Amino acid sequence: MTTDASQNKTDKRKVLRVFVRTVVFLVILLAVYVIVLVTNQRHGQNLIFDKETGAIDLRQWSFEDQGRNYIDYGWQFYPNQLLTPEDFGFVGEDPRTKDSGKAKPSSDVGNNKDSPTSGNAPDLPHYKNVSITTNGWTNLGFDAYPSSETVPVMSDFGFGTYRILMIMPADCGVVAMDFPEINHAAKIYVNGNLLSEFGEISESREGYEHEEAYSDIRVSPQANGIIDIVIPCSNFSSPFGGIAIPPAVGTPEQIDAIDMVSKMWVSSVMTLFVLIIITGFYVSFTFRRKLKYYYFILIILISISYEFSDKIFNPMNGDWNRLLQTTFFLLMSFVAALYFSSLYPKNAENVFARIKNWDIVLIATAISVFLAFYWISPDFLYYKSSVVANSILVTIINSYNFLRVLYMTPRYAEEGTFHLISAALASIIFSTMIIRSPQIFFIPLHSVGIVLMIFGTALYFTVRYVNNFKQISRFTIELENAVQDKTRSIARVNAELVSMNQTLLKNEEARKKMMSNVSHDLRTPITAIRGYIELIMNAKANTTKDTINTYLTNMHTRSVQMEQLIEDLVQLTRLESDNADIKTQAVNLRDMIDNLYELYLMESEGSHKKLRLDMPKDDMLTVMGDPNRLLRVFENLIVNAMRYTPDDGQIDIRAFREIAALGGDNIHIIVRDDGIGIPAAELPYIFDRFYRATNASIHKSGSGLGLSIVKSIVEKHGGRIWGESVEKEGSTFHVILPAGKPQEMEQKSEEEEG
Ligand code: ADP
Repeated sequence: MTTDASQNKTDKRKVLRVFVRTVVFLVILLAVYVIVLVTNQRHGQNLIFDKETGAIDLRQWSFEDQGRNYIDYGWQFYPNQLLTPEDFGFVGEDPRTKDSGKAKPSSDVGNNKDSPTSGNAPDLPHYKNVSITTNGWTNLGFDAYPSSETVPVMSDFGFGTYRILMIMPADCGVVAMDFPEINHAAKIYVNGNLLSEFGEISESREGYEHEEAYSDIRVSPQANGIIDIVIPCSNFSSPFGGIAIPPAVGTPEQIDAIDMVSKMWVSSVMTLFVLIIITGFYVSFTFRRKLKYYYFILIILISISYEFSDKIFNPMNGDWNRLLQTTFFLLMSFVAALYFSSLYPKNAENVFARIKNWDIVLIATAISVFLAFYWISPDFLYYKSSVVANSILVTIINSYNFLRVLYMTPRYAEEGTFHLISAALASIIFSTMIIRSPQIFFIPLHSVGIVLMIFGTALYFTVRYVNNFKQISRFTIELENAVQDKTRSIARVNAELVSMNQTLLKNEEARKKMMSNVSHDLRTPITAIRGYIELIMNAKANTTKDTINTYLTNMHTRSVQMEQLIEDLVQLTRLESDNADIKTQAVNLRDMIDNLYELYLMESEGSHKKLRLDMPKDDMLTVMGDPNRLLRVFENLIVNAMRYTPDDGQIDIRAFREIAALGGDNIHIIVRDDGIGIPAAELPYIFDRFYRATNASIHKSGSGLGLSIVKSIVEKHGGRIWGESVEKEGSTFHVILPAGKPQEMEQKSEEEEG
């Protein structure tokens, strides 16, 4: 419950954070647009326009000090009419000087009631209220109306004549003007003289030749300071007809500078764009494959070469140029799509999975269709309907993009801001890719902002991704190490388990064997005892007492044998259980072995067996241990030696101290006989439970448990036991026990005394 609540809280906080970030981002975006709008409106605002003369008065304007200006208003527009300077009654001289010297080309032109079009000029409709946008005059057709109210039907707007009058300081010398773009066939007349001609202006639609022209002209005002510019523009196919962008006017140096800067700007914008693409790829693949890296370089080279070939020299004819341009945009759209798809990766595995994002597919398709049309029929795209269709498409794409991001943002709180930024950027880029800004000779502030934003984001993403990548690499290494460690320990545990399993299997096998041995060894004496009992029960009257006694003696022997077996089993079981109680105390082995020797010396009386003992006189051969158990060890060894040695055999018992240079001393006990020995093949098994060598079976007694009990006891005391034997020659058993330390012995004895 509490975790759920805290989870909810963090979720809410995340959503809130995303919301705040989103709002901040949108505010910044809005600010950028407002700045762009305001800055773009600065053009022409410094100009004084004299409504009476219909002229722009630039006499107070110092180009040297204040720089160039943009002539974006003050134009007169005559739609649907291809007029020539003659139509204005202007043939290379000031109409006012013609008009009986009434005009005063002085500082008070503003007060001059005479219109520049007066005089011999024909009475032509003069269009007013023309709104001039930063995009030029493209939509003038709708807004312009003639003062005479006789509006000609304008089926092809943009087709018409532009005229502007400027009054310059008389001594200004040569002035330069820059027309970034005039669509599509036009003639520039200055003071009645034809300065520039683009395309072919003809009476028939078929005769008009399409052209997008940039023009840089040099003009000198007339003696009275008047510059009269008349530009008849024709266009039957494009909605972007006429003068698309306000021209700049300034000193020739200033205008050259614009040109220069524009070219530089175009190059830098392209370079930045290309950098963004590289970044996108870097983000997408982190250079996992070298081939892709070469591919980016190829694209960069194509972009740069196209950019330079198009802007600096244009060696190709229209078709090739168009093909190049289309290819370039197609590539750009493809890599841009990849870039943005990398920002919302659907599947990081492969590039095609990334492109499966619907918005990316939609955008890429739209651009491809657009470009295909552009390639097949460029004129088609200049129809108003296709522009509207394209704009709608771009709007849909962008809205979808934003919706998708706004929908996704709360779900992926961490990524929300990035999605939003990338969506905004995608929208901007895809919009400008479809409607390529015609202002290529301006330095549009908004594109500065956009490029900086894009580049900043790209940089940010790169840093972020690279950092993540580094972190992941580090994690991976750590993880690999951890996995290796774990694998090793698992392997170790596994090996332990395998050996444990083997031990268990062996134990189980041993247990089964033991069960069968035990039952067999117990059944044998019981069967014998029952046999004797039956003999006694069925005894005839003439059965002698001696015979009965013999039966009874045999029965006694058998029951002792059984008792011994049971005793052995109990011992063994106790020893093998982990908590076998070994009562540790100082044990004097010398006395223990000496007593045993005395005992078995007596037992061997009557046989010819010889028993010998060899022990140091001055050493108690003390060890720490359980005296009863240790007694059992030596007794067993001596009994075995006696049992498996013929009557004339010899048994040697030796015990001595082995002095160790390092660590504690050992007590070494050896029991040797020259008896039947043990076959070499069987020697390794004699310490196993119930194991009896084949040559031992001649001796009925013996359970095969003795040596395993001995080994168990010795090992419990931290000692070692082993046997050496040659069949028919004899056997030697060695026991090594760690010698008790003197102080331990003292302590123990003190305790005992206490
Ligand atoms: P057992 O009761 O049969 O003596 P042990 O565990 O004491 O059982 O001995 C196991 C086997 O080791 C014996 O059956 C015998 O084959 C062999 N063995 C032990 N001690 C000697 C020895 N001193 N000489 C020959 N064989 C021996």
